[in-house]
Amino acid sequence: MRTRDMNVQYIKGVGEKRAQLLKKLGIETVWDAVHYYPRAYLDFSVCTPIAQLTPGETACVRGIVGCPVSGGMVKQGMTIYKTVVTDGSDVMHLTIFNNKFLAQRLEEGETYLFYGKVTRQYGSFEMSNPMVEAPDAGSFLPVYPLTAGLTGRQLSTIIQNALTLWAKDETGDLIDTDIRQEYKLAHALFALKNIHAPETMHDMEVARRRLIFEELFVLQCGMAMLKRENRLKTPIRVKSAAAQPFLQSLPFELTGAQRRAIDDCLKDFTTGEAMNRLIQGDVGSGKTVVAAACLYAMAQSGYQGAMMAPTEILAKQHAQTLQSLFGDSVPVTLLTGGLTAKQKRIAKQHIADGTAQVVVGTHALLTEDVTFARLGLVVTDEQHRFGVRQRSTLGEKGDAPHILVMSATPIPRTLSLIIYGDLDVSVIDELPKGRQKISTYAVDSSYRARIYAFVKKQLDAGLQAYIVCPAVEEGETDLHAAVTDAKVLSEETFAGYRVGLLHGKMKPKEKQKVMADFAAGDIQLLVATTVIEVGIDVPNAVLMVVENAERFGLSQLHQLRGRVGRGSEKSYCVLISDAEGEAASQRLEALCKTNDGFAIADADLRLRGPGDFFGARQHGLPQLQIADLLQDMDTLREARAASQRVIAADPLLKAEEHYQLKDAVVRLFRRNGDMALN
Ligand code: ADP
Ligand code: MG
Repeated sequence: MRTRDMNVQYIKGVGEKRAQLLKKLGIETVWDAVHYYPRAYLDFSVCTPIAQLTPGETACVRGIVGCPVSGGMVKQGMTIYKTVVTDGSDVMHLTIFNNKFLAQRLEEGETYLFYGKVTRQYGSFEMSNPMVEAPDAGSFLPVYPLTAGLTGRQLSTIIQNALTLWAKDETGDLIDTDIRQEYKLAHALFALKNIHAPETMHDMEVARRRLIFEELFVLQCGMAMLKRENRLKTPIRVKSAAAQPFLQSLPFELTGAQRRAIDDCLKDFTTGEAMNRLIQGDVGSGKTVVAAACLYAMAQSGYQGAMMAPTEILAKQHAQTLQSLFGDSVPVTLLTGGLTAKQKRIAKQHIADGTAQVVVGTHALLTEDVTFARLGLVVTDEQHRFGVRQRSTLGEKGDAPHILVMSATPIPRTLSLIIYGDLDVSVIDELPKGRQKISTYAVDSSYRARIYAFVKKQLDAGLQAYIVCPAVEEGETDLHAAVTDAKVLSEETFAGYRVGLLHGKMKPKEKQKVMADFAAGDIQLLVATTVIEVGIDVPNAVLMVVENAERFGLSQLHQLRGRVGRGSEKSYCVLISDAEGEAASQRLEALCKTNDGFAIADADLRLRGPGDFFGARQHGLPQLQIADLLQDMDTLREARAASQRVIAADPLLKAEEHYQLKDAVVRLFRRNGDMALN
């Protein structure tokens, strides 16, 4: 067995009990231990003379214990030990709470390093519960994320012991020498030693840069491999001409960007290699029709197409949209969890015998008892909600079907390299003609009366509006709740108007009814939660009011706002927020200023950081240990270039010298469970 794979119990100082604790931190092997990086460092490199200490600051003092530790006083349930330390410049009092072990360690007349917050009491300096180290301890001590029962000192020792094992056997480097030279990267061993126990902060930075590069490099190699792996040969070929009748029947003229995206797909269908394409386009840019053209071409060529949406409402709506675009020429079958058992059975039967040519559904399409007769194309809409794994599961349902992914969340391009690095990309960066800018206003609730008057004006003109609330029901918070607002508004302010309610806790049937009523104009004002965020298309709705707007992410607000401005009427979005502070208003201002989803995504990422940008796991963002997707964009670009070179030369990393790289790729993708790599 390679050292890296050895169980932590082989590490000196680790028994069964410690192994259990380490497991809680995700450390099970020697590899895990040496790659468990500190989150910070304590600086023991610069000691401050006691006389120059500043109360309130954290400092390191090199001092001699001046008298035996007095001890064992119990006060308010705490055992208190005291002593005095001097370094010749002044004296400092030490107080230790509840730490008999530390109290016993300190010997009169010996020198130690004391690290902690300095206070000044009764005219003398004081430190309580300092970190104490021997005078020859390293200059910078690592601070690790810990778990109860394991101290930092213990973990640090374990990691050092693991490093000793590692350094004996794992002398190679997963980054080729020429790449290390080109990008001025330290050797792997140097990096690991200096990330855990650096002599200087400069060494730590050099180590850190190397490890960040390494992580992104490994990630990009994995993505490049996935991309190649996904290039399956496929028997499914479709002539581009098959889409022509559909394109000619459209009630509107396609935008240039839509046309290009459709051409990209149609070309992919002719190559004999399965398509793996992402259509990235802002809300309202008209992605559905691109999917429709592809599904139509498939159907005309005798293949089935499947379109998967993240919610039932959206699936239903897509089914309707597609059916109206296809007219009588292609039947559309809906399969969602909300159908009756009988309806489901019939749908599945049609899918299995091939009479269902275009199938629209939710995750239900992923269940094992759905079998396609001749699946040619799989479309997933709003891909950021599906993991890479789910995407490929649907692909497995046929014989190397073409795959089309549509994302409505414009994400910064650099991030899309990571999330969608395994796909080809067509960007729809143009809105249909005649689309007007959605005028957006950020106001506080003192404007409420005026806003409601404005809503009425729109409704009176025969148009429709949304009011979006962050909560479903009134709870502990004082946030606006859809259920309450709908009730109050329909009984008071909007008595006499047709007010509807839509939220995620309603039954699928009820939701569908409400959506249908709203689409038909029977509901004028729809009070809703963010269930309407995705995909709902009612062109007659021209106004959206968002309550507690500060509660939403920028991209989410942009997505919500995309529910209006879908027809030819002038549209509005009003963001109500009483949140105080610069940051909150800055965020909402960004939305008022631009309608460009990519610009908003960039702002969102900048203001919130990638962790919050969209709850990372849900959206298939990889969990990284040391790289930061926002800070390390430049390194990402370098790592990407380097990875492409390596993978072009050795696509499957089969070469002996790539053993370690391949191993690292497999580990990273295993850790990110939903990123399948075979
Ligand atoms: P999204 O990209 O957000 O999924 P949709 O596909 O739902 O956008 O399209 C939004 C609206 O724009 C729909 O009502 C659709 O019929 C309309 N649309 C799409 N393309 C065009 C076009 N080229 N010209 C005019 N309207 C279009
Ligand atoms: Mg859409």
